[in-house]
Amino acid sequence: MTTIIDGERVASEIRDALGGSIETLADAGVRPGLATVLMGDDPASETYVNMKQRDCEEVGIEGVHVDVDGDAPAEELYETIDELNADPAIHGYLVQAPVPDHIDYREVLRRIDPTKDLDGFHPENVGRLVAGDARFKPCTPHGIQKLFEAYDVETEGADVTIVGRSEIVGKPMANLLMQKADGGNATVTVCHSRTRNLEEKTRDADVVIAASGVTELIDGSMLSEGAVVIDVGISRVEADNERGYELVGDVEFESAREKASAITPVPGGVGPMTRAMLLYNAVMAASEREGVAVELP
Ligand code: NAD
Repeated sequence: MTTIIDGERVASEIRDALGGSIETLADAGVRPGLATVLMGDDPASETYVNMKQRDCEEVGIEGVHVDVDGDAPAEELYETIDELNADPAIHGYLVQAPVPDHIDYREVLRRIDPTKDLDGFHPENVGRLVAGDARFKPCTPHGIQKLFEAYDVETEGADVTIVGRSEIVGKPMANLLMQKADGGNATVTVCHSRTRNLEEKTRDADVVIAASGVTELIDGSMLSEGAVVIDVGISRVEADNERGYELVGDVEFESAREKASAITPVPGGVGPMTRAMLLYNAVMAASEREGVAVELP
């Protein structure tokens, strides 16, 4: 029997537990503040920031959203960043990617106060993660670690193949999994668009984490019997429904589930975990800045 990993359920448990931490903060007169910044009007990004704001409301985090005109000069975005860095009510924030082409995303990340960098993408936070001293773990890989914990997926000694080497998923995932720490100690192979014989690397793995953004790149024939399959991919594919599209992952679900011992669906797998871990980072940021100890899930 293949286990369908229920990210909605685990995310909801994490949100519930964070509720307790948020109450502790409230007792000390602290309400965590989380801001989202969106430059431009990319529809997928709009959906993501709306969901993040809704999540904040649901758990009792003060959500603030700032829109920046997509044609504005970089300085306007930098001003917003400087204001958020200086605002004591904002414990953490993120600038939703992708930013418009005329904006240097790396420069944006460098401007964010690293103690408010809820995505964990500031170079200081990336360095700390690599050094095994993470401040904010990036939300998607952290969420995947939490799924492993919830479903007793042992990473220690496991052969894990990650498909994708992005700064937001592949690389931090590899770093977390190879650390000498709980949820780590794996032997990690990182594949990318120049990898030869991808199917050999995925077939060799106990755990496959697909984060390429290529629709249904991985199918059952590329997996070993009993593999754990984590599908990070979210692609919008045109569909004959009310929205006009459906969400499809990097994994061809039906053939993969026949081989897998456990697999995440899309949607309802990794996505909700990413959102929950953003709330986690916001609560942690508030706790640290205000000097109020809380228990984190
Ligand atoms: P990205 O485009 O930055 O990186 C994609 C990576 O996949 C690259 O490293 C590239 O080398 C690799 N790749 C591309 N084609 C490949 C191929 N044929 N074989 C092997 N590797 C290949 O993307 P990203 O930001 O890391 O996101 C990846 C996917 O995950 C996207 O679909 C994105 O929407 C989704 N995503 C989902 C969540 C979530 O919470 N579920 C979070 C972040 C990203």
